[in-house]
Amino acid sequence: MEKREKIYEGKAKVLYATEDPNFLIQYFKDDATAFNAQKRGTIREKGLLNNQISSTLFQFLEGAGIETHFVRTLGEREMLVKRLEILPIEVVVRNIVAGSLSQRLGLPEGTPLAGTILEFYYKRDDLGDPMINEYHIRALGLATEEEMARVSAMALRINVLLQPFLEKRGLRLIDAKYEFGRYEGRILLGDEISPDGCRFWDMETDEKMDKDRFRRDLGRVEEVYQEVWRRVCAA
Ligand code: UDP
Repeated sequence: MEKREKIYEGKAKVLYATEDPNFLIQYFKDDATAFNAQKRGTIREKGLLNNQISSTLFQFLEGAGIETHFVRTLGEREMLVKRLEILPIEVVVRNIVAGSLSQRLGLPEGTPLAGTILEFYYKRDDLGDPMINEYHIRALGLATEEEMARVSAMALRINVLLQPFLEKRGLRLIDAKYEFGRYEGRILLGDEISPDGCRFWDMETDEKMDKDRFRRDLGRVEEVYQEVWRRVCAA
């Protein structure tokens, strides 16, 4: 598939058109940002690692009956994807307390939850991605009730599928952010699934193996991305 014009450049990825209007090339950069892009840096080889981690996880989910935008891996840092009409909503699924939930509710990180939490955020960098609920989504016309029922069911199913897959590889799935989009009248999983948008803790030691190492200057950032790649893709 031939790479044509750049159609979108985000913080960690670039999307290029192809000769087929139904397909895009998703290119993974080494750039990393945190705190609504106030902190910027690069994580060596992150693009390559996240492309392969995402490819592996998308293929696993497809095999388990989840429709994703993933078509195939093209090169070290590129995958071919279906061109979705992305919903302007970030869907967060939480299994264990961490990050903003810890701060907002005053619960220590690592606190177990009696049930899974599903949250929605409005994708608006200029507003710092505010949390919204399904009433806001409907009232603002961001997605229909039917679409949100599908998004919620898919996000919870993805969580249930990824947990044992990752646990077998020594990674506890603390929380994750997913994005969904419309494609030929259906809802598909888009974006990426990588340590940039998920929290993975080592099953044995609870060591953070995700972007929190960059966000919080914990050191060994490159090493843990490599280690997640090794466990997910090479083991
Ligand atoms: N997340 C993300 N992009 C964002 C905000 C959060 O990918 O713009 C991911 C984050 O990596 C974590 C989950 O969503 O896996 C929940 O993040 P949280 O709400 O705790 O926010 P944070 O602590 O990252 O500010």
